Amino acid sequence: MRSYFDTPVEFIKGVGPQRAELLKSELGIHTFRDMILYYPFRYEDRSRFYTIKEVNPEMPAVQVKGRIRKVDVIGHRRSKRLVAVIADDSGEMELVWFKGVQWMLKKVMVGVEYVVFGKATRYGNKINIAHPEIEPVTGENTQFVPHLQPVYSTTEKLRNKYLDSKALVKIQRNLVPEAAKRYPEYIPAEVLEHYKLMGINDALLHIHFPHNPEFLAKARYRLKFEEFFYIQLKLLTLKLVRTEKFKGEIFGDTKLLTEFYEKHLPFELTEAQKRVIREIYNDMKSGHQMNRLLQGDVGSGKTIVAFLSMLLVVGSGSQAVMMAPTEILAIQHYHGLKEHAEKVGIRIALLTGSTKNSEKKIIRQMLAEGDLNMVVGTHALIEDKVKFKKLGIAVVDEQHRFGVAQRSKLWQKTKDYYPHVLVMTATPIPRTLAMTLYGDLDVSVIDELPKGRKPIKTLHRYDANRLKVNQFLRTEIEKGGQVYVVYPLIEESEKMDLKDLMDGYESVSRAFPDYPLSIVHGKMNSEAKDFEMQRFVKGETKIMVATTVIEVGVDVPNASVMVIENAERFGLAQLHQLRGRVGRGADQSYCILISKYELSKDARTRLETMVRTTNGFEIADVDLQLRGPGDLAGTQQSGVVELQLADLSKDGKILQVAREAAIDLLNRDPDLSGESSRALKHFMDNKMKSAVVWSKVS
Ligand code: ADP
Ligand code: MG
Repeated sequence: MRSYFDTPVEFIKGVGPQRAELLKSELGIHTFRDMILYYPFRYEDRSRFYTIKEVNPEMPAVQVKGRIRKVDVIGHRRSKRLVAVIADDSGEMELVWFKGVQWMLKKVMVGVEYVVFGKATRYGNKINIAHPEIEPVTGENTQFVPHLQPVYSTTEKLRNKYLDSKALVKIQRNLVPEAAKRYPEYIPAEVLEHYKLMGINDALLHIHFPHNPEFLAKARYRLKFEEFFYIQLKLLTLKLVRTEKFKGEIFGDTKLLTEFYEKHLPFELTEAQKRVIREIYNDMKSGHQMNRLLQGDVGSGKTIVAFLSMLLVVGSGSQAVMMAPTEILAIQHYHGLKEHAEKVGIRIALLTGSTKNSEKKIIRQMLAEGDLNMVVGTHALIEDKVKFKKLGIAVVDEQHRFGVAQRSKLWQKTKDYYPHVLVMTATPIPRTLAMTLYGDLDVSVIDELPKGRKPIKTLHRYDANRLKVNQFLRTEIEKGGQVYVVYPLIEESEKMDLKDLMDGYESVSRAFPDYPLSIVHGKMNSEAKDFEMQRFVKGETKIMVATTVIEVGVDVPNASVMVIENAERFGLAQLHQLRGRVGRGADQSYCILISKYELSKDARTRLETMVRTTNGFEIADVDLQLRGPGDLAGTQQSGVVELQLADLSKDGKILQVAREAAIDLLNRDPDLSGESSRALKHFMDNKMKSAVVWSKVS
């Protein structure tokens, strides 16, 4: 039996087959359910008329009532416009149309009284409203309307077919009052009560036709809460299921680990690193599959934590894989880990897209037969049909670069048990986002930098200061430091950017003829990249001119200055990542942001934020405010964030409450089998179906 809410939208009064087609193709609205869940995106105050004297440009769109005194067509051709003067008892103002002049000329009659709605602007010393809505006064439109008018977004095509917001309002009026009453409540009564949430029937009514702003606020809160609540339930259930059902290999042989720890550990671990390693070891001894997110700001020392985790696995006879988002980073990890690994007799290999086929074949065979203990690579690792003899742990570095599907491929590799998964990320993620994107993972945080690090000094300089900057670089190099100079490379204009880079390279080599330079960019093959990187790592070159390929993870402790050219073109997360390439040694490090003089407001905020703070979480928050969550790395591919009303950058508090509520409910009723959770359970089971793909993630 088809439920009421599955009824095709054409059966709403005033829709019919033709409009239904349009609603489907343009807005994806197929059913009654789709329609009632199509919320207004803003509201207009039609609850009163303002007097013309009251109207000012500071107000949102307002409604006035008055008589037309005069109608004129002024100007010629492009500047031709219709100007009507409207007056009430308090005064008069102008209404202006630049388009549809002929049409409006027929519509606007001198001496007739109209209801006018629009946003006022100041033009010289006069107030006018351009392109207002205008209707002759009737009984209907002058009745006191006791509520806010919903405004629905439509499309160009819909508007051309007379399906504008007003038409949608009419349609909703024919649906919502009845449908809102019938809509099932999924949230258990005790949750509604405890969190003082408006019931679904009222919420749906008031989100479309709020009686007053207070009801609207309550409706919005409830509907936002619900969006977060379902996501959190999904994530937390996933975690519960995994912890119970997914067996993980138990790794407990610490001989190799102890040997490395006692004889070869290159530095004393920070307390935070030690704590995190304990958390990871506990997971790996538990018999359950580990799914852990390791968060730590750039430079906090995640790599060694990963290595020590891999070491426990290898020491117990299984294999370990580490996956990096770029070839450069994979190569670097390979070199770094190899140095550690060889000290304790571990066999390790590198596998990337540009590994020679003959070599790949050998590596694959060795992995399948268990002759290799560790492998480091890029996504080539998962794209190729790599088989492990016994994969015990998969480490995913800088995970935001990986799509969700890619991660899931990694751990599906093993048949009878699940390899432990450690996801590392340095891009500081605001808490709200982390709760949503990684709400199903356990989280470890390295919240401490290794001792002796001096905070990086960040400066913002304009192009015109370049000579001074160069002088400064020279003194730094003479003191024994090394310098990065980074140019943006944005894919759409790759050719031009490459030219920028080459020009930059030229001018750097002209400014520093006596120093050997390295250059690295994405168009070079991996051998060339590696060669240039190694020259820089060994200190043979003093300046590294590069694109953002060096953004993530690259570690050259001797490099002490990061110059970022065209800094205004970079996002905050990227700037922070780039800056993280320096400040890794004991010397004072610098980050110099070079930009043009005229900057957009957002660009200026970004650069100022960078100068003000090195705290990744603070930077992440500013980033979220500036860009909104949709743009932040990871949210789009994740498919997790399907928020309609709720906004991760603004509704953090609601999210927090919703997560609490979900945890609370699952504590009481882990499988939602209780009487009051029946509707919720049913709803979640259906919703879960679409979540299968990402449930395999991490
Ligand atoms: P990230 O967390 O950004 O991946 P890395 O693992 O690359 O950081 O570490 C940054 C630098 O700090 C490396 O040169 C690393 O060898 C060094 N390092 C890591 N942990 C410590 C520590 N406890 N004491 C001193 N140096 C450390
Ligand atoms: Mg790293």
